[in-house]
Amino acid sequence: MKGYSTFSLIRNALGGHRFWKPVWRTPELKDSYDVVIIGAGGQGLATAYYLAKKHGIKNIAVLEKGFIGGGNTGRNTQVTRSNYFWPQSSAFFDYSLKLYETLSLDLNFNVMLSQRGVLNLVHSHHEFEGLRRWANAIRINGVDTDIVTAAEVKEIVPLINMNSRFPVHGGSIQRRGGISRHDAVVWAYARAADAHGVDIIQQCEVMEFAISNGKVTGVETTLGKISANQVSIAVAGHTGVLAGKAGFRVPIRSMGLQAMVSEPIKPCLDTMLTSPVIHMYVSQSDRGEIVLGGGADVYTSYAQRGGIPLLEENVAALLELIPAFSRLRLMRQWSGIVDITPDTTPIMGMTPVQNLYISGGWGTGGYKAIPAGGDTMAYTIANDEPHSLIADFGLDRFERGVLIDEGAASGVSH
Ligand SMILES: Cc1cc2nc3c(=O)[nH]c(=O)nc-3n(C[C@H](O)[C@H](O)[C@H](O)COP(=O)(O)OP(=O)(O)OC[C@H]3O[C@@H](n4cnc5c(N)ncnc54)[C@H](O)[C@@H]3O)c2cc1C
Repeated sequence: MKGYSTFSLIRNALGGHRFWKPVWRTPELKDSYDVVIIGAGGQGLATAYYLAKKHGIKNIAVLEKGFIGGGNTGRNTQVTRSNYFWPQSSAFFDYSLKLYETLSLDLNFNVMLSQRGVLNLVHSHHEFEGLRRWANAIRINGVDTDIVTAAEVKEIVPLINMNSRFPVHGGSIQRRGGISRHDAVVWAYARAADAHGVDIIQQCEVMEFAISNGKVTGVETTLGKISANQVSIAVAGHTGVLAGKAGFRVPIRSMGLQAMVSEPIKPCLDTMLTSPVIHMYVSQSDRGEIVLGGGADVYTSYAQRGGIPLLEENVAALLELIPAFSRLRLMRQWSGIVDITPDTTPIMGMTPVQNLYISGGWGTGGYKAIPAGGDTMAYTIANDEPHSLIADFGLDRFERGVLIDEGAASGVSH
């Protein structure tokens, strides 16, 4: 794999950047692979990379109906943290954060991890007590989290209005949390997987599965039939569609999740700020934009929320907390389709179809899980048994009633 050294950057700059080689190939689709992975988002590409690198399986295709990273991986708000409540989630997401901490070096691609802290606010004494319990559980899980007083919140976010309609009582911070650059993460994995011989085929949609005697034997795509020994589904909001085609159901609700950015301004917010109660989270990107989001577009019998009204709610929440941002202009707004499980924990591992695997149910939080998701799914495929870190995340937990209720997994409710 070509390295990006200071020397190569200078040499290419002097050449007017005309001599860079494409960072991945555009290979011809073969009619047979050892492993086919559906979906070239972060999860699919990382799985392919670790399969090739750690397990020596080289004859792999990643099939993508659109373009690399064009799904949720290229649309998310880049929050990276591991302050989860249950031991299984903590262990998995903290492993992911640890992999993120060395990812730029490992993949020789700057993913711009900025561990600026993730600060959760609370707005009442009662909520503060709940937060203490949550923070204690996280610490017992061995993950860093500190309780901060109202005065400390003001120090961390000088622009904050402490006496809004919901006065700030304090919060908790995971200082190792933060953001990284989502395009860089997905491109880094694509480049590294390609360098290990993985064929990444864009504009190739999987339409059907070939299944014989309960075992997957290949896929039918818009570019033709492909046979495969093993197939893995990593398609986020489309998981329910593909599971249905393979003949099984997943307990997933797919819905929109929106975000928006303002025009760029000078650095003024150097943490990732979340208020589950006021219902928004905000950070400042490396380009200076204020990045803002909230919960998913949930439609329930008692409330219809989504689209522009939800964006208005998020903006109103932001302005309650940081009134100075009222003078900013919004530049862009977008949405992705996320796949939410009843316990907001991912579905990973085996499926009822032999040799068919699944990585889905990521909901609003699968970006931070890309390195660990890829690594553990690669192990699972290579050994045809779940990696110990994801053993409890299997689809069968819904039959057995052993849910891992990470209701606060997203930071803001949905
Ligand atoms: C607005 C927004 C904000 C978010 N913020 C965060 C955050 O701050 N932190 C966090 O951790 N997570 C966040 N998420 C969630 C996170 O982005 C996802 O959980 C994660 O990107 C999932 O990765 P993936 O590779 O599984 O899916 P994707 O990146 O969506 O990749 C799946 C790919 O599969 C392809 N595909 C679908 N069907 C087919 C088919 N039939 N054949 C071939 N290809 C197919 C799609 O085109 C897509 O490219 C956010 C999501 C959104 C939408």
